[in-house]
Amino acid sequence: MVEAVGVRKHFGDNEVLKGIDLAVRPGEVVSLLGPSGSGKSTFLRCINHLESIDGGEISVNGHLVGYRRAGGKKYELKPREIATARRDVGMVFQRFNLFPHLTALENVMEAPVFVKGVARTEARQTATDLLARVGLADKPAAYPAQLSGGQQQRVAIARALAMQPRLMLFDEPTSALDPELVGEVLDVMKGLAADGMTMIVVTHEMGFAREVCDRVVFMDGGVIVEAGPPSDVFTNPQHPRTRSFLSKVI
Ligand code: ADP
Ligand code: MG
Repeated sequence: MVEAVGVRKHFGDNEVLKGIDLAVRPGEVVSLLGPSGSGKSTFLRCINHLESIDGGEISVNGHLVGYRRAGGKKYELKPREIATARRDVGMVFQRFNLFPHLTALENVMEAPVFVKGVARTEARQTATDLLARVGLADKPAAYPAQLSGGQQQRVAIARALAMQPRLMLFDEPTSALDPELVGEVLDVMKGLAADGMTMIVVTHEMGFAREVCDRVVFMDGGVIVEAGPPSDVFTNPQHPRTRSFLSKVI
């Protein structure tokens, strides 16, 4: 579903991704761990083409994302190719970014109607089903300001799912939430994982990573330092930087 090979990215002199190789199989749930500034968000943003890359290749569901070196030259994707590659990817951020002037239902309907051209009646039915799936069947008419952080984040997940993505990217989806609201969002993500969604999750929720993820990938300083099944990485981390990080967060 995701094939990243030798991905490089810099901002000015700051080389943020220094050759990332990662392949994610369909249905796999991968958590991306690592200290602040290690490049996790940048890597997710590259996968969703919110950032271009300076070297290497990324493809999602067989569609090339970003630049690649073709015959030694940089190949820049055309807007249509970017749209095709992005269509398969849903993304959920730390901040929920819901449209404040739209209800929960309207937030979920927005992209299918205005980006995909789905008929409103059909989009409304899908959005109703998705709100039920994230446990918000009783909140279609609520505005974001009337919802808790956990409820808003669940609407944001429903909104991403409305575009029928093949891959979901989560960037610290629970970091902005009060502790008592974290569980309800993680439960929705667990449900998605159980339904076979391919997911890459940047998180500091080690319980979630251990319980739900097939593989954890530890990043530091723009490289993947260590990766493996959670049972291996958590109980027997090989790299000193992984050990040091885990000793602080567990
Ligand atoms: P993480 O998500 O692991 O905390 P980030 O990917 O956000 O790390 O950031 C990695 C590095 O890239 C940091 O040094 C950060 O300051 C830098 N960075 C991220 N986005 C930008 C940007 N748009 N412009 C300049 N520097 C950036
Ligand atoms: Mg980040």
